Amino acid sequence: MVITNGIVVTADAGSRVINPGAVAIDGADIVAVDGADAIRRQFRGRETIDAGGQVVMPGLVNTHTHAPMVLFRGLADDLALDEWLTKYVFPAEAKTVSPEFVRAGTRLAALEMIESGTTTFADMYYFEEEIAKETKAAGLRGVLGETIIQFPVADAKTPAEGLAHAESFITAFRNDPLITPAVAPHAIYTNDGATLKAARALSLKYGVPTLIHMAETQSEATTARERGSPTVVAYLESLGFLGPGVVAAHAVWVNDSDMTLLKSRGVGVSHNPESNMKLASGIAPVKAYLAANVAVGLGTDGAASNNDLDMFESMRAASFLQKVATSDPTVVSAKTAVQMATIGGARALGMEKQIGSLEPGKRADVIIVSMSAARQTPMYDPISHLVYVTRGDDVQTTIVNGKVLMRNRKVQTLDRAAVLREAKTWAAKVSAAVGR
Ligand SMILES: [Zn+2]
Repeated sequence: MVITNGIVVTADAGSRVINPGAVAIDGADIVAVDGADAIRRQFRGRETIDAGGQVVMPGLVNTHTHAPMVLFRGLADDLALDEWLTKYVFPAEAKTVSPEFVRAGTRLAALEMIESGTTTFADMYYFEEEIAKETKAAGLRGVLGETIIQFPVADAKTPAEGLAHAESFITAFRNDPLITPAVAPHAIYTNDGATLKAARALSLKYGVPTLIHMAETQSEATTARERGSPTVVAYLESLGFLGPGVVAAHAVWVNDSDMTLLKSRGVGVSHNPESNMKLASGIAPVKAYLAANVAVGLGTDGAASNNDLDMFESMRAASFLQKVATSDPTVVSAKTAVQMATIGGARALGMEKQIGSLEPGKRADVIIVSMSAARQTPMYDPISHLVYVTRGDDVQTTIVNGKVLMRNRKVQTLDRAAVLREAKTWAAKVSAAVGR
């Protein structure tokens, strides 16, 4: 397949933009990225997609979400994290989460992600094997972490059961081309030290990522202090938890020595600006992370705290939030925001050799983004427009692993009307469960 006549935003080491450019794809792989004429001379695609002067770029990498929570979208807003979790989310989950629920939620999330240009997402939830099946069916790439949590949940009565569940999930999916199974200890305040250690040990046994909520709110440090450590990061270090393959969602409340530790241990960070703002969790020191060369990607977090999965909004929010936080309008430039949503996210997930940029030898995860809306006119700089005016709805075509999942706004792998209808049916059950 050849995608030609595009403004090709590569997100490669030189942040090259090739206009008019083209991308040649063979099976699941990118084989060439070059000027449109050069590609035309060298390749004849069985299929040619004329990008018509629109942006062709790497698919967006959402480094932190809880896909099925789209079914809790708008259920409870304007609350602090602890109240939101304990009064609404945990009770609603206790009464509704089932294999059928997560499958319906994942279909809705996948539809939204495909429609807004996300091609890879990192997930933390329950019944992750069901999420994996739906993710594969939709054609998306997922780093899917089975949740480990100290109290009884829908798919495990104890952490030991959760770990056994995670292990069978890992063995079932570890050689899958689209799914990277992972272990997801929820957070330090929802797991004791022994469970955190066991979760990390399970990840290391199979060489799969460990996803965790880390230092999301200021109060999380109380748990660390009660366990004899000054900070959340120091506590996890004392357990021997930190190392390559750990992806820390949020990492808002860190000091300088925490940051040095995260860097030296090779921990990836997922920055979730919209969720952090909505829950008033705080502002992650992204400027400092970038200066320290920590691998930072962007995430939406679950739709219940965002309330959507649009990574273009995440780019814009990351840029604006860091500017206002540091009183420096030059930080998280449009170029940096695009990098964070693509190659930075890939790096944070340890997948930079496979995805995150348009380069020969990487998987063909590619999106085509329209630049023809009134709000995008005129266009002096496509990178500026991607961050400051573009929305998920502007994505026209989404390709993952060489397969077209959406063509000219028409999703190929999901029955849109059926997915939406089913989600509304589940919403009635959720409402009944929490009395709203
Ligand atoms: Zn989260």
